[in-house]
Amino acid sequence: MVDLLERGGGSGALDDPGARDRERERTGGPRIRCPKCAWGPRREDTWACACLHQWNTFDTGGVCPACQRQWLETQCPRCDGWSAHLAWYVADDAGRH
Ligand SMILES: [Zn+2]
Ligand SMILES: [Zn+2]
Repeated sequence: MVDLLERGGGSGALDDPGARDRERERTGGPRIRCPKCAWGPRREDTWACACLHQWNTFDTGGVCPACQRQWLETQCPRCDGWSAHLAWYVADDAGRH
């Protein structure tokens, strides 16, 4: 019995590397959402800097392209709460074991 099992098995062909790629396509890179209310910004959403320039702050990692000011906190337009800019980014491996 034991001899038969050892001779027949071993290749591990059930592991499909493509499954992981398809999952990555579905989630589409790093996700961004408000840590307080879970609102997610779209590409056309903009934030206003103290210099009155308006741009999508997540395109530049919180840096104003007009005056180079680094915004360490980002305000949510939905709940008006301020959160650390980095806290908006959802870790890619969240939800996996
Ligand atoms: Zn919010
Ligand atoms: Zn600015």
